[in-house]
Amino acid sequence: MATGKINVSVENIFPLIKKFLYSDHEIFLRELISNATDATLKLKHLTSIGEATVEYGNPVIEVKANKENKTLHIIDQGIGMTKEEVEKYINEVAFSGAEEFLEKYKDSAKDSGIIGHFGLGFYSAFMVANKVEIITKSYKDEPAAHWICEGTTDFTLGDADKTERGTEIILHLNDDETEFLEENRISELLTKYNKFMPVPIKFGTKEKTLPKAEDAPEDEEPKKITVDNIINNPEPAWTKQPTDLEEEDYKSFYRELYPMQFEEPLFHIHLNVDYPFNLTGILYFPKLSNDMTMQRDKIQLYQNQVFVTDNVEGIVPEFLTMLKGVIDSPDIPLNVSRSYLQADGAVKKISSYITRKVADKLKSLFNNNREDFEKKWDDIKVVIEYGMLTEDKFFEKAQKFTLYPTVDGEYFTYEELEEKIKENQTDKDGKMVILYASNKDEQHSYISAAKDKGYQVLLLDTPIVPHLIQKLETSKENISFVRVDSDHVDNLIKKDEDKTSKLSEEEQEKLKADFEKVVPKEKYTIQLEAMDSNAAPLIITQPEFMRRMKEMQQTGGGGMFGMGNMPEMYNLVVNTNNELISSLVGKEEAEQERIIKQSLDLARLSQNLLKGEELTNFVKRSFEMIK
Ligand code: ADP
Repeated sequence: MATGKINVSVENIFPLIKKFLYSDHEIFLRELISNATDATLKLKHLTSIGEATVEYGNPVIEVKANKENKTLHIIDQGIGMTKEEVEKYINEVAFSGAEEFLEKYKDSAKDSGIIGHFGLGFYSAFMVANKVEIITKSYKDEPAAHWICEGTTDFTLGDADKTERGTEIILHLNDDETEFLEENRISELLTKYNKFMPVPIKFGTKEKTLPKAEDAPEDEEPKKITVDNIINNPEPAWTKQPTDLEEEDYKSFYRELYPMQFEEPLFHIHLNVDYPFNLTGILYFPKLSNDMTMQRDKIQLYQNQVFVTDNVEGIVPEFLTMLKGVIDSPDIPLNVSRSYLQADGAVKKISSYITRKVADKLKSLFNNNREDFEKKWDDIKVVIEYGMLTEDKFFEKAQKFTLYPTVDGEYFTYEELEEKIKENQTDKDGKMVILYASNKDEQHSYISAAKDKGYQVLLLDTPIVPHLIQKLETSKENISFVRVDSDHVDNLIKKDEDKTSKLSEEEQEKLKADFEKVVPKEKYTIQLEAMDSNAAPLIITQPEFMRRMKEMQQTGGGGMFGMGNMPEMYNLVVNTNNELISSLVGKEEAEQERIIKQSLDLARLSQNLLKGEELTNFVKRSFEMIK
C-alpha cells in the first residue's frame, strides 16, 4: 500500500482563486492599489530616515484603461522591486500567501460573505486577468525588471527599459471581465474602496474652470485647463487630531462620506485609541427617519484607510449600528466568520470601547448644554433606549443623561422625576407610580384627569418602551410604570380620602347586574367605583399588565410568556356618583338599556374603539335622539 501527501500546489490555486472569489472579484483593484500605496509609503519612510537618497516628491498612483488592448494599468512611483525582489516577493512569498489562503479557506467556506475580505494581495489579479505583467524599477540603482505570467506556474523574468522609479502592473483582462475597462465601473470601484487612501490616486483628467481676472471683459469666455482627476482624499478627517478640527470640518466630512445625505448630523464622536488596540474613527448621530428600514448609509469599516465593508455587525454593538460614520482599525480580524468575530477578545474590547465613548459623549453633551440636549432628545431617544435595553453597561451609564419628557414638554432625569413624584404619586402598597402616556391625542381625557390631580404624566412613545419600562421596574426598587388609561387615576394612585358611593350596597349590586345584562361580558369586566360626581359616568380602561405584554409580544420578546393571541379585554369603570349612573336606579328596563348602550358607545367612541357598522348605527341613533 502506498501512502503519500497531497500536494497543494500552485496549479490548484489559480482555478480556486477564480472560482471562489468570483462573487467579489472586484476587490482585485483594491488589492493592487493597496500594494501600490504600501510601496509608496515604504519609500516615504526610507527617505525620511535617510536610507533612500532619492527625491520622494509628490507621488501619485495612476489607474489607466486601454480598451483596444483590453488592459488595465496600475502605476505607482513607490519603492519598486529589483529582479531578485520580484523572485522573492512575487514568485516565492506570494505563493505561500496563497497557500495560507487555502488553509484559512477550509474553515470559513460556509460563510461566503467573508471571502472577499481576504487580503489575497497581488494574486487576486488573476481573478480578472489571464495574463499579468509587472514592470518595475527599484529606488536602488539597478536595472528594471519585467515579469510576465499567464496564470500558470510558468513565468518569465527579464529586463525592462523602464527608467522612472516605481511599478506598473498590467492586467490583460479576460473577455468576460471587460467591465473593468469602463470608466464608470472603475470610478465606482475607486470611490467605493479607495476614497480615503493615503496616497493620491489619479484616474484620467478633468476640466477645471479658472476664475476670471477682475479686469476681464464681460463677454470673455472663462478659461479652462485640464488637470489630473484625483479621486481620493488622502487625509480624511478621522486621521487627524480632534484638536485640529473645527465643528465645520466634521460636518463637511459627513457630506463627503454621504454625498446623498442632505440632513445634517446632530453631533459627532471622534474615536481615537492606540492601546490595547488601534482604532480611529468618527461616528455621527444622524437625525433618524421614522422608517428605520430606510437607513441606507451605514457605518463604514476601514483598515488603514482602505474600505473593507459597511457591515459592522459584531464589531459595533447593535444599537449603535443606527449611527453613521467611519471606523478604521487594523486590529479587527476579517478573515473569520461573523460568529467567531463576536467571540474574539479584541473585537469585544473594541465594541465596549465604542459603547463607552458614546455614553461619555452623551453625558458631556448633557452636562455642557442641557437645553440643546433636550432639543435633540426626540431624535436620539430611540438609540439610547435601545442601548439601555440591550447593553447593561450602557444602561448603567445612561442613568445620568436619559431624559423622561412629560406631556407638557418638560424633561426630567430619573432622579429629578423621582424627587417630583415620591411624595405625591404612590399606590396603595407605597410603590412609586410613574404615569405615562404613549399618545397625547388618544389618551387626552386620561391625561387631563391625571393632571387635574396635579400628577406628572410622561410621554413615552417609542415602540420599545414596554420592554424598557419592564427593565427599569426590575432594576429600580419600588416603582411601577402605568399608562394613564390603564385604570381610573384614583385607582392607580391611592389617596387617603376614600370616596363613598351615593348608592347603597343593594342598589350597587342591582346596577351591576343591569349593566351585565347589556354589556358583552367577553369584552368588558364591569367595575363599580365611587368617583367624583363630575368625573365621566363610564370609562374604558385596559390593565397595564395585559396591554404591556401584548405590546411586548408585538415588538418581539414577549413570546416567552407563551400567551399566544391574547384577547382584547377591557375594564368598564362605572362611576356610581355620576348623576347619569345614579339616575339609572329604579328606571324601567328598556330605558335603562337605552342609556347604558348609548353611554357605552360614547365611552368607546372616546377611546377610538367604535368602528364600522357600530359607528354608523351610533351616529344614526344620535341624530334620531336630537331631532
Ligand atoms: P502582501 O501585500 O500581503 O505582502 P502581495 O501578494 O500583495 O502580498 O505582495 C507580495 C509582495 O510583493 C509585497 O509584500 C511587496 O513586497 C511586493 N509588491 C507587490 N506589489 C508591489 C508594488 N506595486 N511595488 C513594490 N512591491 C510590490
